[in-house]
Amino acid sequence: LPRIQQVCCIGAGYVGGPTCAVMAAQCPDVQFAVVDTDAARIAAWNSAALPIYEPGLEELVGRQRGRNLHFSADVEAAVRTADLVLLAVNTPLGQPGADGLGMAPPGLRSVEACARTVARTAKPGAIIVEKSTVLCHTGELIARILQDHGPPDGRFQVLSNPEFLSEGTAVRDLLRPDRVIIGGQPGSEDAQEALRALYARWVPAERIVTMGMWSAELAKLASNALLAQRVSSINAVSAVCEAVGADIAEVARGCGMDSRIGRDFLRASIGFGGPCLSKDLMGLVWLCESLGLHDVATYWDQVLRMNDAQTARFVRRIVRALGPDLSGASVAVLGFAYKAGTGDTRNTPAALVCGELLKLGACLAVYDPKVPEQQIRDYLVAGRAPATGLRVCASAYEAVAGARAVLVLTPWPEFAALDWARAHRLMAHPALAVDGHRILDDRALELLGFSTVSVGVRSSIADS
Ligand code: NAD
Repeated sequence: LPRIQQVCCIGAGYVGGPTCAVMAAQCPDVQFAVVDTDAARIAAWNSAALPIYEPGLEELVGRQRGRNLHFSADVEAAVRTADLVLLAVNTPLGQPGADGLGMAPPGLRSVEACARTVARTAKPGAIIVEKSTVLCHTGELIARILQDHGPPDGRFQVLSNPEFLSEGTAVRDLLRPDRVIIGGQPGSEDAQEALRALYARWVPAERIVTMGMWSAELAKLASNALLAQRVSSINAVSAVCEAVGADIAEVARGCGMDSRIGRDFLRASIGFGGPCLSKDLMGLVWLCESLGLHDVATYWDQVLRMNDAQTARFVRRIVRALGPDLSGASVAVLGFAYKAGTGDTRNTPAALVCGELLKLGACLAVYDPKVPEQQIRDYLVAGRAPATGLRVCASAYEAVAGARAVLVLTPWPEFAALDWARAHRLMAHPALAVDGHRILDDRALELLGFSTVSVGVRSSIADS
């Protein structure tokens, strides 16, 4: 079996950083080099202020860095000595319409660039692993680049090892994954076995599955599509709840107790966001269209449309509750990250909600425990929202002071634990509480004097 002593991970982002930190902790005899062309990001990984927030990550990196975990901007030097190269670069969607299909094709530019670097620099026999989320047959593309640009005796092995971590619980997910998938073409069994042996140090054998390359690539896309579909399904039911006077929390409980359905991922919300679900769904829709599977493409596209509709309906309900003239209305926003446990704001639904309210003239006071002020400003400006009415606050209480309404847009536990009586005293009256994630106790808020609007439950003020 190929012996793996040195691992190089190209891409020091939300996947590359935490993945190698956990692997380094579990494999003390293996050296891990995490490399990136973004020198500022590498400098941050080498500093006390890591470029990303994940619970438990700071301690983990602190323990391993300088021992068997190294961060560097010298990509080629790290690739040259690696026995195994993980490709964990970003795969953003390309320009819609560029390929005549009218949709955004998957962005493989970074993956291709890495494959060329690897072909030029890696040692013969090195194992190249797709960790980025890619469309089916990207492994073939990588193998071709390695063959065309590499030395004649290159004989690189290409594997697919998609990452299933969830931001906010990345360290826990990497330490205790539900499954590790290792895909390969016939003839790559030794390489698959070498990668399996690395994971087997801490992942139970029955959770490591080997399969064909295209199955592994598709399993990742399909998993994200199924997760997104589940969110859109419960959100679709939440719209019915609001109309008929049912409560989505009760309905979800009633459904989730069926073991065939299960309880997880059945929380209604303002919609999913983040760097993966929408992107991977769009990639799947593109793939289906390019294969001539139009009905299948339409099916998955509807999951995305349902998500957009959910956020739009939420905004309409806020506007109905506050009255049509929002100019100068003071609104507190609690949470801006796309989910709790992370400072990531990529594709966050909170930005859509904030952008719409700013366009209607509202004055927003935003607080998020993990998202820096500049990141909030940059994101809203990039979405063409007028930033004049925006104030970024250092605490939830500062944000609610003087506000007519408070919106919970990220389900951070600290918002559920807020002293809501104090918040009510600080706000202008009548005060409105809008819960985009069903983490607040509506009844208790109403006893304090709030009017309430919650996802998945009828509100006298928003749905009359
Ligand atoms: P990211 O944007 O946080 O990090 C990617 C890094 O790759 C960036 O720092 C970028 O500078 C670097 N990079 C790009 N091109 C490069 C090149 N040619 N050479 C060297 N470095 C280069 O992205 P991420 O969130 O870590 O996601 C990476 C991949 O993993 C994506 O395909 C994504 O879909 C997938 N994924 C992400 C998550 C998640 O929760 N973020 C989970 C599972 C899978």
